[in-house]
Amino acid sequence: MLSGSLAPFWFFFAAIFGLVFGSFATVLIARIPTNESLWTRSACPHCSTQINASKNIPLISYFLLKGRCGGCSEKISWTYPAIEASMAALFIAPLFLLNTNTHIALWIIFAIIGLPLTVIDLKVHRLPDRLTVSLSIISLIVIVVSAISTSNYSRIKPSLIGAISLVGFYFLIAFISRGGMGFGDVKLSASIGLVSGYFGLSTVLVSSFSAFFLGSVIGIAMMIFGSAGRKTAIPFGPFMIAGQFISLTLIGLKIL
Ligand SMILES: [Zn+2]
Repeated sequence: MLSGSLAPFWFFFAAIFGLVFGSFATVLIARIPTNESLWTRSACPHCSTQINASKNIPLISYFLLKGRCGGCSEKISWTYPAIEASMAALFIAPLFLLNTNTHIALWIIFAIIGLPLTVIDLKVHRLPDRLTVSLSIISLIVIVVSAISTSNYSRIKPSLIGAISLVGFYFLIAFISRGGMGFGDVKLSASIGLVSGYFGLSTVLVSSFSAFFLGSVIGIAMMIFGSAGRKTAIPFGPFMIAGQFISLTLIGLKIL
């Protein structure tokens, strides 16, 4: 938890890094689904004017430019500053909610990759392999490095069991539902099982239950308010990621 005289420093540090990774998230969201290079300079989608560094400061540039492109004055989508601010919030939150470095590292990785995955799934109903597979691999690396640095290898087995059982579970649903649950969700479940399994079986259950609970509530609400029919495909990835943040928060608050 955040305390002591260094607290304001950590808060500032988390906010800055959150904004930088939020800006990176907007690049992932725009380019991963179309397989564009991540390392070229951003350009205005309307007039193709390249956005130089001074106009690419997260959050601040949007307000300095009054939400319009410096080249063609076309409106810049509000989703850019919203994603940058959300990432900053996800970087600041663990300072108040979590206690151990491993826990914080796993949370931050889920923020960096999970937030763009959420937005991409909402926009194009896909969970690109480049992100879901990276999320699993990086989470596994954190778990293994944490085990080596503390000489405590007891959490690796439950992590792997969590991943295997959740992948099996989602695979079964994807198979039975014939496309209702996609294989992107199955691949995403590997990282969810891995990270929640690290904290134990109850965390795997709470994370999954939260995902299905949120999915049902919002699905039913959308049907009631007419924006979805029985056949409307509602992407499930965002609920899985939200469920993961809920379970990680509950562990930090020692409720789980
Ligand atoms: Zn422009």
